[in-house]
Amino acid sequence: MGDYTLSSLSQKASIAIYIIPQILEPKEGVLYNISMILKNLVIHTCCADCLLNALLDLKSRGVIDKETEITSLFYNPNIHPRSEYLERLNAVKKIFPELKEEWNIKLVIPNYSPKEYLSRVLDCKQDRCTICWNLRLENLFNYAKEKKIKNVTTTLLTSHYQERDTILKIAKDLNKKYNLNFIEIDSTSNIKHTGFYKQNYCGCCFSLTEKMVSSKI
Ligand code: SF4
Ligand code: SF4
Repeated sequence: MGDYTLSSLSQKASIAIYIIPQILEPKEGVLYNISMILKNLVIHTCCADCLLNALLDLKSRGVIDKETEITSLFYNPNIHPRSEYLERLNAVKKIFPELKEEWNIKLVIPNYSPKEYLSRVLDCKQDRCTICWNLRLENLFNYAKEKKIKNVTTTLLTSHYQERDTILKIAKDLNKKYNLNFIEIDSTSNIKHTGFYKQNYCGCCFSLTEKMVSSKI
């Protein structure tokens, strides 16, 4: 049994630093301290590890509970190759039976279409990661709007490797455009979970090449 079991989740949550929810407090256009437990939430998810840490953080802050209708949206057309996409998706699927014992959570998997990512990155002079985050977050906001779900967040914020400030700025702009609540996630109490596949590069073909060059593969 991996380290992501329910008992280990509860144990780790109990030793996490608790941030007591106080008021509905906008923090640079996104929400951090929230006085009530959310009725529903869509979490853009790109790997199992970060989904577990995101749930732990939201739980420790009293933002979600067993009643919260949570949707984990695995929309990641940036991941290359397809076999890597499937490895990461299967890791999320692997932890789902146990997650469902603790949370009211479902997994939504849009079609895998790498063209959606590549056509944007190859046609644009903007930094590729900003395009990548924008694409995935816009899909998240679109999905939530369509399903009439008011609250959204992303596992991207739990990673130390992603540019948090840029992601928050994108979220803030999308908040204005879609009139939803983007819930911030803390990245300070990340835990390394085991028992499922772990990636060793960010996701796209470019990051894979960079990894191979730096590892002299
Ligand atoms: S940013 Fe990286 S580490 Fe975080 S969820 Fe996405 S793939 Fe996982
Ligand atoms: S390095 Fe990561 S964030 Fe940047 S474009 Fe590639 S997959 Fe997206």
